[in-house]
Amino acid sequence: MKGEADQNPLVIKFGGTSVGSGAAIGRAAAIAAGAARGRPVAVVVSAMSGVTNLLLGHASGAPDAGGAAAMALRETLAERHLRAIHEAVPPERRAEVENRVLGLLDELVEAAGRPAESVKARRAGIAVFGERLSAEVLAGAVAGTVAGTVAGAVANAGVAGEVVEVDPIATDRRFDEAEVDARETEGRCSRYVVPVLERGAVAVVPGFVGRAPDGSPTTLGRGGSDLSATVIGRALGSREVWIMSDVDGVLDADPRLVPDAALMPRLSYHEAHTFAGLGAKILHHKTMVPAAEARMDVLVRNTFAPETPGTRISADFAGGSGVRCVALRRKVPMEIPCASGRRSETAMVVCIGSPSEADLKLGLRLLRKAKIRFLHAGFASAGLVFVVNGDQGEDALRLLHGSLVMADPGVEEVA
Ligand code: ADP
Ligand code: ASP
Ligand code: MG
Repeated sequence: MKGEADQNPLVIKFGGTSVGSGAAIGRAAAIAAGAARGRPVAVVVSAMSGVTNLLLGHASGAPDAGGAAAMALRETLAERHLRAIHEAVPPERRAEVENRVLGLLDELVEAAGRPAESVKARRAGIAVFGERLSAEVLAGAVAGTVAGTVAGAVANAGVAGEVVEVDPIATDRRFDEAEVDARETEGRCSRYVVPVLERGAVAVVPGFVGRAPDGSPTTLGRGGSDLSATVIGRALGSREVWIMSDVDGVLDADPRLVPDAALMPRLSYHEAHTFAGLGAKILHHKTMVPAAEARMDVLVRNTFAPETPGTRISADFAGGSGVRCVALRRKVPMEIPCASGRRSETAMVVCIGSPSEADLKLGLRLLRKAKIRFLHAGFASAGLVFVVNGDQGEDALRLLHGSLVMADPGVEEVA
């Protein structure tokens, strides 16, 4: 597909909350079908929220073919996915999608009862079903959205969604955090994804899932669907990948810890890679590697507010000035003696960007004033680092966000 100017496939990834219910899947399907009116679209889908945890919980038990635990798991998953089908898939396609989902659940029970070569192989062999199941529901739901045009061809009927028949991402045999083989993946995408796009359908790819050279299922690590999206984008020659989640984009701090965290409209690859590497959960830590390599734009957007512009991460933005965003690393392995004689843990706040000496001084002054004891402060490659007592990490994060990030708009566009 590479080199065809207006036919570059768009890759859209939907996270767990974005496919967390029938209503959410309906929205996701409408976004995918809407985008497919202008160009070929491949959708990468996460498991419905909570499903991966459920599957991994089951995988920690011993294989027990057809046992009570496996049957209970089957029932829970059947109930959740069949309800979503009922809510999101048009009536004429429901029976077919239900059959596919029930077939996958039979395969899951079988996989759960089979001995595996290792604990990690067993966990991967079970976890992959979360994405396989949600992919079927989303593909079925695409057909229920408004009619449009796909790949330039007028489609009078609704846009079709098709799950790719074979997992396109080739990996090594590290079952829980597999390494992607880019060349092999490109070949597999040409064989299994491109034909679906050429048929004019939205190609739905289960995220998080890979295949080892011997065909065994592997996973890309928790949160790995983001990486699946940029890996597929690179293999298809895409110019743009959308990461659709439940927040407006990449915020300048974790919104669960910092209520006034603000949207970052632009990020450089380097900034996004650093932030993700320091734990910004919105992006899996390896997501930016294929994106930067292929110079693709990555847009992080909100499935539940698709009209908002989100965050654009691209090659034409060299990064902002000053402190751009803050990340908290807990349990930093620098333990210090404390009054009780026990050793207490530390936390580290990293102020990412290009901070100045004045930022460091201001940060230290404010920490002292707030009586937050710091054990170390200084410059590091990511920006400014403040190491504090473990139980004061969140306070330090909020304080430094309020004083160093909010004070500095930090956007200096460099073409
Ligand atoms: P998805 O299932 O869509 O991949 P995740 O839960 O993996 O969603 O990531 C999205 C969540 O990441 C948000 O709901 C938010 O709570 C959290 N998050 C942590 N840090 C950030 C940040 N800097 N910007 C945006 N969201 C963040
Ligand atoms: N479903 C997987 C997880 O929960 C992958 C993902 O959501 O990106 O980790
Ligand atoms: Mg995620």
